[in-house]
Amino acid sequence: MKIPFIDGHNDTLMNFENDVQPFFSGTKSGHIDWPRGVNAGFAAGFFAVFCPNPDTDPLPVAYKTDKGYEKPLPPCLKYEYACRYTNKVVARFLQLEKQSKGRFKIARTIQDLDQAIAGEHMAGILHIEGAEGIDEDLNMLHVLYEAGLRSVGPVWSRANIFAEGVPYRFPSTPDTGPGLTENGKKLVEECNHLGIMVDLSHLNEKGFWDVATISRDPLVATHSNAHKICPVTRNLTDKQIDAIGDSNGLIGVTYSINPNMVTADGGNNEGALLSEITKHIHYIADRIGIDHVSLGSDFDGTRVPKAMKDVSGVPKLIALLRKEGWSEEEVEKIAYKNWIRVLKETWKK
Ligand SMILES: [Zn+2]
Repeated sequence: MKIPFIDGHNDTLMNFENDVQPFFSGTKSGHIDWPRGVNAGFAAGFFAVFCPNPDTDPLPVAYKTDKGYEKPLPPCLKYEYACRYTNKVVARFLQLEKQSKGRFKIARTIQDLDQAIAGEHMAGILHIEGAEGIDEDLNMLHVLYEAGLRSVGPVWSRANIFAEGVPYRFPSTPDTGPGLTENGKKLVEECNHLGIMVDLSHLNEKGFWDVATISRDPLVATHSNAHKICPVTRNLTDKQIDAIGDSNGLIGVTYSINPNMVTADGGNNEGALLSEITKHIHYIADRIGIDHVSLGSDFDGTRVPKAMKDVSGVPKLIALLRKEGWSEEEVEKIAYKNWIRVLKETWKK
């Protein structure tokens, strides 16, 4: 039985250059498009705006260490570049709604999400992954809010004027650098004020605890897994998972295998099983409760296991959750009800 789901993170917007029509007609590449999404039950998702570094990364082999790998933080972005890039991708997001003939709606309120769950349209939650395109006076934050922005991850991996993210390192704790800057603290306060969710994924541990201290909203990591199972910097320690539970927050479990955030070996693992993804869901639910775990694919931002393939694999994951013993009510919480609860508390409308 197909049920609707809300997904915590995708990088699908960056797949489209100028024309977003291929999203609706269907693409052969990538993980999400309209036909495959609707078919799988993708009711709503966080659509990230991510600015790549203008230079290309060296080959991953250069990062090998004795026990795993270590990738240094990419250089900081210039505001002008990031701002222009952010505008370009947000404009694309606006086009998705405009060209959808009512099939795609920007999620500005909980009602937009409820309607998506009811099958009236697909809903997109606008998310910034790395706030380099936002100025220190936060004027751009207010402009983007009016355009539909409802979620901000202060950092991707590289440092910016707000905070510093984790470098990709395995095995390693997420405690890799300094916490939020004064600008970062103001950003969190202003997000609270506007009703924008703050995403903890990619933040280093000191930054995480700074947000936990300042924010009045539930703590959320949209695409991160359990560090106990896969000790990569991007995953959450037990203490972080507990804090998210205590705040009535939420973790979106990611399917990323490059970097591998799923299996214990940490290496690129296309053969990872769906049961190795659900293992993280069980671990988090056993520790802090079923109300605090959900899905956060990272589709179109990473490689996913062959068994998942693309968004069409999500119903298989949901079927596996049922097979592993979750009741229908519990499966619905993981699929979308937990996201609705947390966003209701955060957006306040
Ligand atoms: Zn990410």
